[in-house]
Amino acid sequence: MRSGALAPLFTEYIPAEPDEGVLYISMQFETAVHLCACGCKAKVVTPFGPDDWILTFDGTVTLRPSVGNGQQRCRSHYHIRRNNIDWLPKMSAAATAAASARDRAAHTVAAAAPHAVASASWARRLWRRLRRSAEG
Ligand SMILES: [Zn+2]
Repeated sequence: MRSGALAPLFTEYIPAEPDEGVLYISMQFETAVHLCACGCKAKVVTPFGPDDWILTFDGTVTLRPSVGNGQQRCRSHYHIRRNNIDWLPKMSAAATAAASARDRAAHTVAAAAPHAVASASWARRLWRRLRRSAEG
């Protein structure tokens, strides 16, 4: 059955067979799992991260960006906003291709981002300091 809302459940481990209508949230594994809100029982995994999904908790749960199940037969597409499912038009094959292209682009940009370089030089500085204190 198509659900209008998901009940958030903070948990350490995500069960192998999640219940319908529950959004399992594991901070330990930095991911959320729910069964597709259309009722097709496809398991939808939404890892958290700057290039993946952002979870907002204010007593209710909001997940951004939208959940597009373009890889599933149902092609359902929706926002999870304040525990509620806001339905969007079904994903077309073209939109699915565009979304995965955008994902790839986002990951490529992240890999080349300046903060990666900055943290490398930070690590070098730390290493130098450690070496110095070991010698002294
Ligand atoms: Zn579905």
